[in-house]
Amino acid sequence: MDLGLRGRTAIVCAASKGLGRACAEALAAEGVDLVLNARTIEALEQTAAEIAATHGVLVRTVAGDIAEAAVRDAILAACPAPDILVNNAGGPPPGKLKSYSADDWGKALDGNLRAPAAMLAAVLDGMAERGFGRVVNITSSVVRHPIDVQGLSAAARAGLHGLVSTLVRDHVGRNVTINNILPGPFATDRLISNFTFRAKQEGISPEAALAARKAELPAKRFGDPLEVGRLCAYLCSTHAGYISGQSILIDGGAHPQP
Ligand code: NAP
Repeated sequence: MDLGLRGRTAIVCAASKGLGRACAEALAAEGVDLVLNARTIEALEQTAAEIAATHGVLVRTVAGDIAEAAVRDAILAACPAPDILVNNAGGPPPGKLKSYSADDWGKALDGNLRAPAAMLAAVLDGMAERGFGRVVNITSSVVRHPIDVQGLSAAARAGLHGLVSTLVRDHVGRNVTINNILPGPFATDRLISNFTFRAKQEGISPEAALAARKAELPAKRFGDPLEVGRLCAYLCSTHAGYISGQSILIDGGAHPQP
Protein backbone atom coordinates (compact mmCIF):
# COMPACT_ATOMS: atom_id res chain seq x y z
CA MET A 1 0.00 0.00 0.00
CA ASP A 2 1.31 3.46 -0.89
CA LEU A 3 1.03 5.50 2.29
CA GLY A 4 0.92 8.76 0.33
CA LEU A 5 3.84 10.27 2.19
CA ARG A 6 6.46 10.73 -0.56
CA GLY A 7 8.10 14.16 -0.26
CA ARG A 8 6.77 14.83 3.25
CA THR A 9 9.14 15.82 6.06
CA ALA A 10 9.30 14.32 9.55
CA ILE A 11 11.02 15.16 12.80
CA VAL A 12 11.84 11.97 14.68
CA CYS A 13 13.11 12.52 18.22
CA ALA A 14 15.44 10.05 19.98
CA ALA A 15 16.02 8.19 16.74
CA SER A 16 19.57 6.84 16.50
CA LYS A 17 18.57 3.45 17.89
CA GLY A 18 15.66 1.25 18.86
CA LEU A 19 12.05 2.26 18.31
CA GLY A 20 12.81 5.83 17.22
CA ARG A 21 15.21 4.60 14.55
CA ALA A 22 12.63 2.04 13.41
CA CYS A 23 10.03 4.82 12.99
CA ALA A 24 12.58 6.83 11.00
CA GLU A 25 13.37 3.84 8.78
CA ALA A 26 9.72 3.05 8.11
CA LEU A 27 9.01 6.67 7.19
CA ALA A 28 12.11 6.86 4.99
CA ALA A 29 10.95 3.70 3.20
CA GLU A 30 7.85 5.72 2.23
CA GLY A 31 9.97 8.55 0.80
CA VAL A 32 9.80 10.88 3.82
CA ASP A 33 12.72 13.28 4.39
CA LEU A 34 13.90 13.29 7.99
CA VAL A 35 15.35 15.39 10.76
CA LEU A 36 16.68 12.98 13.35
CA ASN A 37 17.71 13.68 16.92
CA ALA A 38 19.61 11.78 19.65
CA ARG A 39 22.27 12.79 22.16
CA THR A 40 25.31 10.82 20.94
CA ILE A 41 26.46 12.44 17.73
CA GLU A 42 28.45 9.51 16.30
CA ALA A 43 25.59 7.00 16.50
CA LEU A 44 23.17 9.63 15.21
CA GLU A 45 25.34 10.46 12.17
CA GLN A 46 25.83 6.78 11.41
CA THR A 47 22.10 6.07 11.55
CA ALA A 48 21.36 9.10 9.37
CA ALA A 49 23.94 7.99 6.77
CA GLU A 50 22.60 4.43 6.72
CA ILE A 51 18.98 5.51 6.31
CA ALA A 52 19.84 8.06 3.60
CA ALA A 53 21.89 5.47 1.68
CA THR A 54 19.21 2.78 1.96
CA HIS A 55 16.17 4.86 1.11
CA GLY A 56 17.51 7.80 -0.91
CA VAL A 57 15.81 10.43 1.24
CA LEU A 58 17.28 13.60 2.74
CA VAL A 59 18.29 12.98 6.36
CA ARG A 60 19.50 15.80 8.59
CA THR A 61 20.53 15.53 12.23
CA VAL A 62 20.35 17.64 15.36
CA ALA A 63 22.32 16.14 18.24
CA GLY A 64 21.33 16.85 21.84
CA ASP A 65 19.01 16.03 24.71
CA ILE A 66 15.38 16.44 23.64
CA ALA A 67 14.62 17.53 27.21
CA GLU A 68 16.58 20.76 26.59
CA ALA A 69 14.72 23.71 25.10
CA ALA A 70 17.78 24.77 23.08
CA VAL A 71 17.93 21.36 21.40
CA ARG A 72 14.22 21.47 20.55
CA ASP A 73 14.71 24.98 19.14
CA ALA A 74 17.57 23.71 16.96
CA ILE A 75 15.41 20.84 15.67
CA LEU A 76 12.61 23.27 14.84
CA ALA A 77 15.05 25.67 13.18
CA ALA A 78 16.23 22.79 10.99
CA CYS A 79 12.63 21.84 10.21
CA PRO A 80 10.24 24.74 10.86
CA ALA A 81 7.30 23.18 8.96
CA PRO A 82 7.24 19.43 9.65
CA ASP A 83 4.42 17.31 8.25
CA ILE A 84 5.12 14.60 10.81
CA LEU A 85 6.41 14.63 14.37
CA VAL A 86 7.42 11.47 16.20
CA ASN A 87 7.88 12.25 19.88
CA ASN A 88 10.24 9.87 21.64
CA ALA A 89 12.88 9.96 24.40
CA GLY A 90 14.75 7.54 26.59
CA GLY A 91 12.59 5.96 29.26
CA PRO A 92 12.97 6.66 32.99
CA PRO A 93 14.93 4.12 35.02
CA PRO A 94 13.06 1.34 36.85
CA GLY A 95 12.70 1.63 40.62
CA LYS A 96 10.28 1.85 43.52
CA LEU A 97 8.34 4.89 44.73
CA LYS A 98 10.57 5.65 47.72
CA SER A 99 13.74 5.33 45.65
CA TYR A 100 12.81 8.06 43.15
CA SER A 101 14.79 11.24 43.80
CA ALA A 102 13.69 14.75 42.87
CA ASP A 103 16.19 14.52 40.04
CA ASP A 104 14.63 11.25 38.80
CA TRP A 105 11.21 12.92 38.79
CA GLY A 106 12.56 15.98 37.00
CA LYS A 107 14.24 13.93 34.28
CA ALA A 108 11.21 11.69 33.73
CA LEU A 109 8.85 14.64 33.46
CA ASP A 110 11.25 16.66 31.30
CA GLY A 111 11.91 13.87 28.81
CA ASN A 112 8.60 12.06 28.67
CA LEU A 113 6.07 14.83 29.30
CA ARG A 114 7.45 18.37 29.00
CA ALA A 115 9.56 17.72 25.88
CA PRO A 116 6.77 16.12 23.81
CA ALA A 117 4.35 18.78 25.09
CA ALA A 118 6.71 21.53 23.94
CA MET A 119 7.15 19.89 20.53
CA LEU A 120 3.38 19.59 20.16
CA ALA A 121 2.96 23.24 21.08
CA ALA A 122 5.56 24.21 18.48
CA VAL A 123 4.16 22.27 15.51
CA LEU A 124 0.37 21.94 15.81
CA ASP A 125 -0.68 25.41 14.58
CA GLY A 126 1.51 25.20 11.48
CA MET A 127 0.25 21.72 10.66
CA ALA A 128 -3.34 22.94 10.99
CA GLU A 129 -2.66 25.94 8.74
CA ARG A 130 -1.11 23.68 6.10
CA GLY A 131 -3.98 21.18 6.34
CA PHE A 132 -1.87 18.13 7.08
CA GLY A 133 -0.16 16.93 10.22
CA ARG A 134 0.58 13.67 11.95
CA VAL A 135 1.97 13.34 15.47
CA VAL A 136 2.86 9.98 16.97
CA ASN A 137 4.04 9.72 20.55
CA ILE A 138 6.03 6.63 21.48
CA THR A 139 4.97 5.94 25.07
CA SER A 140 4.61 2.53 26.73
CA SER A 141 2.20 -0.29 27.48
CA VAL A 142 2.89 0.53 31.13
CA VAL A 143 0.34 3.35 30.93
CA ARG A 144 -2.41 0.79 30.49
CA HIS A 145 -0.92 -2.34 32.11
CA PRO A 146 1.22 -1.46 35.13
CA ILE A 147 4.69 -2.91 35.65
CA ASP A 148 5.48 -2.44 39.33
CA VAL A 149 9.01 -1.05 38.86
CA GLN A 150 8.01 1.40 36.11
CA GLY A 151 6.16 3.97 38.20
CA LEU A 152 8.09 6.97 36.89
CA SER A 153 7.51 5.93 33.30
CA ALA A 154 3.80 5.28 33.91
CA ALA A 155 3.31 8.61 35.69
CA ALA A 156 5.05 10.79 33.11
CA ARG A 157 3.52 9.05 30.11
CA ALA A 158 0.01 9.02 31.55
CA GLY A 159 0.39 12.79 31.82
CA LEU A 160 1.19 12.98 28.11
CA HIS A 161 -1.79 10.80 27.22
CA GLY A 162 -4.03 13.09 29.25
CA LEU A 163 -2.64 16.16 27.52
CA VAL A 164 -3.07 14.64 24.06
CA SER A 165 -6.71 13.82 24.75
CA THR A 166 -7.37 17.54 25.23
CA LEU A 167 -5.78 18.52 21.90
CA VAL A 168 -7.31 16.09 19.45
CA ARG A 169 -10.70 17.66 18.78
CA ASP A 170 -9.29 21.10 18.03
CA HIS A 171 -7.06 19.70 15.28
CA VAL A 172 -8.62 16.68 13.59
CA GLY A 173 -10.91 18.90 11.50
CA ARG A 174 -7.78 20.39 9.90
CA ASN A 175 -6.39 16.94 9.06
CA VAL A 176 -3.98 16.93 12.00
CA THR A 177 -3.97 13.75 14.07
CA ILE A 178 -2.22 12.86 17.32
CA ASN A 179 -1.88 9.26 18.46
CA ASN A 180 0.13 7.31 21.03
CA ILE A 181 1.86 3.99 20.36
CA LEU A 182 2.19 1.85 23.51
CA PRO A 183 4.90 -0.76 22.96
CA GLY A 184 5.15 -3.90 25.02
CA PRO A 185 8.57 -5.61 25.10
CA PHE A 186 10.62 -4.89 21.97
CA ALA A 187 14.14 -6.11 21.26
CA THR A 188 16.15 -2.91 21.84
CA ASP A 189 18.98 -1.74 24.11
CA ARG A 190 16.38 -0.35 26.50
CA LEU A 191 14.86 -3.79 26.97
CA ILE A 192 18.28 -5.29 27.73
CA SER A 193 18.98 -2.63 30.39
CA ASN A 194 15.58 -3.22 32.02
CA PHE A 195 16.31 -6.93 32.22
CA THR A 196 19.70 -6.26 33.76
CA PHE A 197 17.76 -4.54 36.59
CA ARG A 198 15.33 -7.45 36.90
CA ALA A 199 18.15 -10.02 36.83
CA LYS A 200 19.92 -8.21 39.69
CA GLN A 201 16.71 -8.22 41.75
CA GLU A 202 16.19 -11.92 41.15
CA GLY A 203 19.85 -12.93 41.47
CA ILE A 204 20.00 -14.42 37.95
CA SER A 205 21.89 -13.52 34.77
CA PRO A 206 20.39 -10.96 32.33
CA GLU A 207 20.29 -13.71 29.68
CA ALA A 208 18.26 -15.95 32.03
CA ALA A 209 15.90 -13.05 32.84
CA LEU A 210 15.40 -12.36 29.12
CA ALA A 211 14.75 -16.03 28.32
CA ALA A 212 12.28 -16.33 31.21
CA ARG A 213 10.40 -13.23 30.04
CA LYS A 214 10.28 -14.46 26.45
CA ALA A 215 8.82 -17.77 27.57
CA GLU A 216 6.06 -15.93 29.47
CA LEU A 217 4.97 -13.94 26.42
CA PRO A 218 1.99 -15.26 24.45
CA ALA A 219 3.83 -14.50 21.18
CA LYS A 220 6.95 -16.33 22.52
CA ARG A 221 9.15 -13.54 21.19
CA PHE A 222 10.00 -9.90 21.75
CA GLY A 223 8.66 -7.42 19.24
CA ASP A 224 10.75 -6.38 16.26
CA PRO A 225 11.26 -2.57 16.42
CA LEU A 226 10.21 -2.30 12.76
CA GLU A 227 6.75 -3.50 13.80
CA VAL A 228 6.45 -0.25 15.77
CA GLY A 229 8.03 1.66 12.89
CA ARG A 230 5.50 0.40 10.37
CA LEU A 231 2.57 1.09 12.68
CA CYS A 232 3.94 4.60 13.10
CA ALA A 233 4.25 5.05 9.33
CA TYR A 234 0.65 3.91 8.84
CA LEU A 235 -0.62 6.32 11.50
CA CYS A 236 1.28 9.07 9.67
CA SER A 237 -0.18 8.09 6.30
CA THR A 238 -2.77 9.93 4.25
CA HIS A 239 -5.10 6.99 4.95
CA ALA A 240 -5.14 7.50 8.72
CA GLY A 241 -6.74 10.95 8.93
CA TYR A 242 -9.78 9.53 10.74
CA ILE A 243 -7.72 7.97 13.55
CA SER A 244 -6.84 10.47 16.26
CA GLY A 245 -6.53 10.51 20.02
CA GLN A 246 -5.93 6.77 20.15
CA SER A 247 -3.50 4.87 22.33
CA ILE A 248 -2.56 1.79 20.37
CA LEU A 249 -1.09 -1.13 22.26
CA ILE A 250 1.43 -3.26 20.33
CA ASP A 251 2.37 -6.09 22.66
CA GLY A 252 2.07 -9.42 20.86
CA GLY A 253 -1.37 -10.18 22.23
CA ALA A 254 -0.30 -9.96 25.88
CA HIS A 255 -3.40 -7.95 26.84
CA PRO A 256 -6.34 -8.81 24.59
CA GLN A 257 -9.23 -6.35 24.61
CA PRO A 258 -12.77 -7.54 24.02
P1 NAP B 1 16.84 2.51 23.01
O1 NAP B 1 17.00 1.35 22.11
O2 NAP B 1 17.69 2.66 24.21
O3 NAP B 1 16.99 3.82 22.08
C1 NAP B 1 16.77 5.08 22.62
C2 NAP B 1 17.10 6.13 21.57
O4 NAP B 1 16.74 7.40 22.09
C3 NAP B 1 18.57 6.22 21.24
O5 NAP B 1 18.71 6.67 19.92
C4 NAP B 1 19.06 7.28 22.22
O6 NAP B 1 20.27 7.86 21.76
C5 NAP B 1 17.88 8.25 22.18
N1 NAP B 1 17.68 9.06 23.37
C6 NAP B 1 17.55 8.61 24.64
N2 NAP B 1 17.34 9.63 25.47
C7 NAP B 1 17.34 10.75 24.71
C8 NAP B 1 17.18 12.12 24.99
N3 NAP B 1 16.98 12.55 26.25
N4 NAP B 1 17.21 13.02 23.98
C9 NAP B 1 17.42 12.59 22.71
N5 NAP B 1 17.58 11.30 22.39
C10 NAP B 1 17.54 10.39 23.37
O7 NAP B 1 15.34 2.61 23.57
P2 NAP B 1 13.97 2.06 22.94
O8 NAP B 1 13.74 0.68 23.43
O9 NAP B 1 13.93 2.35 21.51
O10 NAP B 1 12.93 2.97 23.74
C11 NAP B 1 12.40 4.17 23.20
C12 NAP B 1 11.27 4.62 24.11
O11 NAP B 1 10.25 3.62 24.11
C13 NAP B 1 11.71 4.77 25.57
O12 NAP B 1 11.02 5.83 26.16
C14 NAP B 1 11.27 3.47 26.19
O13 NAP B 1 11.07 3.57 27.56
C15 NAP B 1 9.99 3.22 25.44
N6 NAP B 1 9.58 1.81 25.48
C16 NAP B 1 10.43 0.84 25.04
C17 NAP B 1 10.02 -0.49 25.12
C18 NAP B 1 10.89 -1.63 24.65
O14 NAP B 1 10.55 -2.78 24.90
N7 NAP B 1 11.98 -1.39 23.97
C19 NAP B 1 8.76 -0.79 25.65
C20 NAP B 1 7.94 0.23 26.07
C21 NAP B 1 8.36 1.55 25.99
P3 NAP B 1 21.26 8.63 22.81
O15 NAP B 1 21.38 7.74 24.00
O16 NAP B 1 22.51 8.81 22.02
O17 NAP B 1 20.56 9.91 23.11
